[in-house]
Amino acid sequence: MTDAPIRFEAWAPARAAPPPRSRLYSLEPIGIGTPEVESLSSYLNRLAQAHCVTVTTLIIHELRPRLGLPAPPKAHPASTPPRGGGRGLSQHLARQINGLGRIAAMWVDGLEALTGRRDLRFLTLLTWRAVLPTRHLFAPRIRWCPACFEDQRTTGHPRSMPLVWTLNPVTCCVRHRQPFQSHCPVCHQPLVAFSGRSRPGYCSRYGAWLGAAAPGALPPVEPPAAAAWHWPGWVGTTLGHLLQAAPRLERPPPRETVARAFTAYHAHCSAAGRPPGTVDLGPQRVRSSRWAQGERLMQIDLLLRFCWQMDISLVQFLTAPPPVRVPPGAVAMPPPSVPVVATVPGLLTGPRREALRDALEAALATAGPPVSLRAVAKRLHMETRTLWAYAPDLCQHLVHRRTVSLAQRRDRMHALLEHALREDPPPVLRRVCQRGAVPTSMAWYYYPELCRQIVARAAGERQQRFLTLQRAVEHAVHEETPPPTLKAVAARLGRSANSLRQHFPTLCGQLTARHHAYQQACLQQRHHACLEEIRAIALALHAQGVFPSINRVAEQLARPRNIASNAAYIAALRHLRRELGWKQ
Ligand SMILES: [Zn+2]
Ligand SMILES: [Zn+2]
Repeated sequence: MTDAPIRFEAWAPARAAPPPRSRLYSLEPIGIGTPEVESLSSYLNRLAQAHCVTVTTLIIHELRPRLGLPAPPKAHPASTPPRGGGRGLSQHLARQINGLGRIAAMWVDGLEALTGRRDLRFLTLLTWRAVLPTRHLFAPRIRWCPACFEDQRTTGHPRSMPLVWTLNPVTCCVRHRQPFQSHCPVCHQPLVAFSGRSRPGYCSRYGAWLGAAAPGALPPVEPPAAAAWHWPGWVGTTLGHLLQAAPRLERPPPRETVARAFTAYHAHCSAAGRPPGTVDLGPQRVRSSRWAQGERLMQIDLLLRFCWQMDISLVQFLTAPPPVRVPPGAVAMPPPSVPVVATVPGLLTGPRREALRDALEAALATAGPPVSLRAVAKRLHMETRTLWAYAPDLCQHLVHRRTVSLAQRRDRMHALLEHALREDPPPVLRRVCQRGAVPTSMAWYYYPELCRQIVARAAGERQQRFLTLQRAVEHAVHEETPPPTLKAVAARLGRSANSLRQHFPTLCGQLTARHHAYQQACLQQRHHACLEEIRAIALALHAQGVFPSINRVAEQLARPRNIASNAAYIAALRHLRRELGWKQ
């Protein structure tokens, strides 16, 4: 054994550079590269939760000033739900930031800079901005699958709202084969994307849990029959695959992709023995030549129908090279048919179905103006298409009744407006509409030209009245002598002095000044006349050898008055007496 010193390795004192810092937490997005990738609005809600602030606070106080965003979302306090439910500004904003436009790009760039992440664009549809039009792309309301929320809760995964739930053509959860919910089971209201209480999985108003175990949740619906499931299932799957594919693309597909693929698949279809006319793209006349030339983008629902009938996925249509030629001897498959009513939101059974029919029958039995189908659906917290699916006869009846009633109301409105055009003096539009109990906006909507004429006539008449009034006031100012008071002129014209002053401030000022000057002149004149009279009486008294005292002069005045109190008269009299040689 030796006691030789132990040699330890030397430490390098070089300091490692700290990783770059970000202003907000670099929260990892959920599900990138999977069909269930979360939406950017869901990410924003989670980001706010991670910072222990409400999402409105995060947006208004942090993101808006830093990103220079144009429109702040309106913060809805949970106690006062906005009119129109979740279709407020915040829902519109959520559609914009999850979408594929300029606003989505601004939010993604800004949030990536603040969080230090580089993958937030996959939480939006920005990858597909050149090939998908925005029309009908997003659902008007927030929808969710209660079973998915319940799964997230039981597995301990963070709650999130997948981007695929926001897409309008998707109506069911692919995994659980059940329709989405769009109204909170507790407060029966649609959700708001950004509110003081919004967080994924909970009601944005009262914080109720939206998962399958929520109190008062609807009983689990029967899985739809295989045939009814085919189309909605395929739509959900193919759009999920689209979102899944986004991060793996080298670059976003360019705009000409749709035109090229459409032309190629059409040609392929013809070459395979199927005439292009067999591709059914809906009842309206399809402008396929515009799509083929790239002048128009295909709307999402038509794009899906096309892909379904071509038996390809949407990703394949938008990213894979189109087919070049048909193998000789290939036999085309008959086109699968797209079911027309394939999007019934759920299977209604028992009491709910009864309630649906009862409500429709009650609406039909109501006297007075017929209610709309939409109003009935809203009262039942259902979609209109659900009513159509379960009671088409009653719906047809209700719609027909309302159409007839609306047509009659339009006729009445037309007669009312026509009559108003012949009235003299011309009435204002508001009065005409009040008389007929018609909203002014509706009159403008149906008969803009008549409304314009009524408004023009009333405006002309008003202008004429104004000119007449102006001329009367001008006459009083410049011509009348003695100049009258403003009050007298107003009374003569049936107006108040204030209204004249408001409309003709200069003329009224002149009138008052002129009246004032006239009054002053009158006063001066009376004063001089009185002085002259005093002088004449004093001279007459002097000629009689009588002392012209104040009292004697006053007694002889034509209109007796107390001149002793007027210093000017006294001074004038004294001056005269001095001239005449009287002692004072
Ligand atoms: Zn689900
Ligand atoms: Zn609620």
